[in-house]
Amino acid sequence: MKPLHPVLNVDVAIIGGGIAGLWLLARLRQHGYGALLIENQRLGAGQTLCAQGIIHGGAKYSLGGQLGASATAIAGMPEAWRRCLRGEGDLDLRAARLLADHQYLWATRAPTSRLAAFFASKLMRGRMEKIAEADIDDYPPALRHPHFRGAVYRLDEPIVDVTSVLAALVERHREAIILHQGPAMPTAEGTVTLRYAGQRTWAIRPVYTVFAAGAGNAVLPWATLQLRPLHMVMARGPTLPGPLYAHCLGASDVPRLTVTSHHDAGGRLVWYLGGGLAEEGVQRDRYDQIQVARRELKALLPWVDWSPAEFATFTVQRAEAHQLQGIRPAEPGIFRNERVLAAWPTKLALAPLLAERIEEMLRTLGARPRRVNLRVLADWPRPEIAVPPWDREDLEWS
Ligand SMILES: Cc1cc2nc3c(=O)[nH]c(=O)nc-3n(C[C@H](O)[C@H](O)[C@H](O)COP(=O)(O)OP(=O)(O)OC[C@H]3O[C@@H](n4cnc5c(N)ncnc54)[C@H](O)[C@@H]3O)c2cc1C
Repeated sequence: MKPLHPVLNVDVAIIGGGIAGLWLLARLRQHGYGALLIENQRLGAGQTLCAQGIIHGGAKYSLGGQLGASATAIAGMPEAWRRCLRGEGDLDLRAARLLADHQYLWATRAPTSRLAAFFASKLMRGRMEKIAEADIDDYPPALRHPHFRGAVYRLDEPIVDVTSVLAALVERHREAIILHQGPAMPTAEGTVTLRYAGQRTWAIRPVYTVFAAGAGNAVLPWATLQLRPLHMVMARGPTLPGPLYAHCLGASDVPRLTVTSHHDAGGRLVWYLGGGLAEEGVQRDRYDQIQVARRELKALLPWVDWSPAEFATFTVQRAEAHQLQGIRPAEPGIFRNERVLAAWPTKLALAPLLAERIEEMLRTLGARPRRVNLRVLADWPRPEIAVPPWDREDLEWS
């Protein structure tokens, strides 16, 4: 029987254009595969543009005592990303921006036993350097104050501007990134019917389909996922004491506060606050979360006048492969059902490792790169890159 719509055969269809899908697309195309990415909103619209951009090297896992092989895998990520940013890695990210070369870590009081173990951990050896009190000029500007009490460490964790990373990935692969109307879903035979108002409908026939759709992977009943919510906070105003990229340690295995700094479209500096504040804040409404954020900032940086600062908050879910008791996974998660894969990087930082593992898996399954002519989709609409939280117009600042 003649097919209803014209057919485009591809090696791999990727569903979802967050960091996982875009990194995988770039890697597969670089290795000669005819891959096509299908997004139904804006690129990075899920979790990716909410990320703080920290390329973790394992500090968080060391704090949680997860020091197995998985923690070693993440330890290689800062260098893998740095190579890409220099144009010497798996992918060329020279067009992306590094916001800071390293993250700081500061402890306000004498380390508890858990922290002492963290500082002594094998994983952190050579990845963390204490800044002597005599070298206060090497402290980040926000902590360079005579009333500051505590210890400051420099961590081997670069911070990237996530929007610019997505732009760099999209720039080279625009022809293979397609906007779809409504959630894309393959039929039982694996065909994805590509639709968009005013466009001719196409039947995409991939040999393999990879769902890199974050929370959207939930449409696959065999790919069990877990959602872990966060209540993130942003602060802006004339008295912010310069950019800060730092984890503040408390007594638990989650940093009490994780701060990264960004500039909004109007050039204003915004502090983006996560860590324990965001994890515990899921129990609080917006008003209470802002009160707690103000109290935390006042307690940790009392020499700053926080009264003119404005705050905004939003909630977002982290989507990951299901773990026993809902614990935080330390590795990317991949499930397979016949020719369909479902994948979560777990962390933005782990996207290169996820792409490497999927490519290996496809090769083991017998996938062979083929040249695919995407010119037939030349006039198809392309998804835009989403806006980061500090430029969202739906959030209220007060
Ligand atoms: C607040 C926050 C801060 C974070 N900070 C960091 C950090 O500093 N460092 C770090 O390493 N990690 C961080 N993470 C984790 C990181 O952001 C995620 O692990 C990563 O972005 C997940 O990427 P993804 O591509 O799997 O999913 P997503 O970014 O969620 O992308 C999924 C995409 O799929 C699309 N989609 C869904 N369903 C369909 C469908 N049926 N058809 C077509 N498209 C579909 C969505 O529109 C979306 O664009 C943070 C996460 C959060 C929430």
